[in-house]
Amino acid sequence: MNLSKSKYTRYCQCPKMLWMDTYKKECATQDPALERRFKEGNEVGDLAMGLLGDFVETTAYTDDGKLDIPTMLKNTKKYLAQGVENICEAAFSKNRCYCAVDILHKTATGYEIYEVKSSTEITDVYLLDCAYQKWVLGNSGLNIEHVFIAYINNKYVRSGEVDIHQLFTIEDVTDRLPPYYAQVAENVAAALEYIDKKDEPDMGPGAHCFKPYPCLYWDYCTRDLPKPNVFDLYRISGSKAEEYYNKGIVTFADVLRAGIKLNNIQYKQVTSEQFDLPTHVDKLGIKAFLDTLTYPLYFLDFESFQTCVPLYDGIRPYQQVPFQYSLHYIIEPDGELLHKEFLADENSDPRRALAERLVEDIPQSVCTLAYNKAFECMVIKQLAEVFPDLSEKLLNIRENIHDLLDVFRDGFVYDKAMGGSLSIKSVLPAMFPDNPDLNYHNLNDVHNGTEATATFLSLRGMEKSERDKLRASLLAYCKLDTMAMVKLWQRLRELCV
Ligand code: SF4
Repeated sequence: MNLSKSKYTRYCQCPKMLWMDTYKKECATQDPALERRFKEGNEVGDLAMGLLGDFVETTAYTDDGKLDIPTMLKNTKKYLAQGVENICEAAFSKNRCYCAVDILHKTATGYEIYEVKSSTEITDVYLLDCAYQKWVLGNSGLNIEHVFIAYINNKYVRSGEVDIHQLFTIEDVTDRLPPYYAQVAENVAAALEYIDKKDEPDMGPGAHCFKPYPCLYWDYCTRDLPKPNVFDLYRISGSKAEEYYNKGIVTFADVLRAGIKLNNIQYKQVTSEQFDLPTHVDKLGIKAFLDTLTYPLYFLDFESFQTCVPLYDGIRPYQQVPFQYSLHYIIEPDGELLHKEFLADENSDPRRALAERLVEDIPQSVCTLAYNKAFECMVIKQLAEVFPDLSEKLLNIRENIHDLLDVFRDGFVYDKAMGGSLSIKSVLPAMFPDNPDLNYHNLNDVHNGTEATATFLSLRGMEKSERDKLRASLLAYCKLDTMAMVKLWQRLRELCV
């Protein structure tokens, strides 16, 4: 059991995380979004291999599909001896410390490390990672002259084939490494000790469970904490929750007893839980919100994808690209509920077709409701920028969007079943606990936005019957999102009678 780059950085976030990875990996919760990011990171790594020109790659796999590290180490030795200028995945192992360098570049007098990242900025974790690599390679007898990080340039706009020299920004971080490098030897010794420990370490929850990355062992580590607890408070930061936790303020009873300052939603959350209060309803607040709405009334929800490497011309890395919407609408308050929807063809840039349909489907100057409208407004603004001929109509739709989330964010309605979350996925079941038609779990294939994105991106080249089935699932999912808004709006009308 040795250290690697990722194990080292995980140790730096939380020593117990490294121990869990080693002995209790099965206790991690699954995170499909993380798996997708990991896959995307590998694709970006492959793309970056040519950044410095011709290269060789050491990567080898065993028969069961795992990395064949002994072969990679052997390949690296061979290429170093041959004086190859760029070695990708150059592998080194020294005193139980392993690392594979994304690109090892030979200079006249030594070597340079190039670490490739799929994010759009350099963070402390990357510097920790680079310092570890420099240390391992230094111990392996290499003279490391410079360390660079190649990360994603979010100003890059694709035009034709992906230009990797524009897609990546390369920054020399050599001068930023000393404080991180100075800690490597000590950290490595402590991390190896942790790996060798047989007994599970005792580590309390805190800010380290969320930053720099949310830890997948959270459920396991907090299994004995009373629920709900101070970490569940609405929008509390990890460091604030840790501060309270360390003072012995754990339960909501503790929170009230300690008299800590709570915001409006937190106060409702704590008191409704603690005193088992019925749904909080502020009729005047709800009525004031409903009075801002006019008819016909539209309910809009987009689905979008964002990829590190833009799929089409005119798109930046990680730009939100809408591919689907659902639109429920009524002409008058108690009128018939009508529905329109759009789901793009997965084989081309979806934006033009979506924008054209959107301006057809939503008349000018009508009132449109979205849930957390910042996203819908941002998507429409971007469409208006790309399609000047539709801009006026798109911006008119945008100007008339109201936010259903405001009712909940302003605390006009709170039910303890929301559990301190105002996401529509929490609010809907809290307001309609026994309605199977409004239960996202009862949908096929697609149950949340992450799955919608992954499903849409997987459609290309798929066999027809499977494709048709998944497209139907996408439509059903997005339709439920706007139906959820309709139901919430109807419930609000009932509540303020
Ligand atoms: S949940 Fe927190 S304490 Fe547990 S392993 Fe993760 S970071 Fe460490």
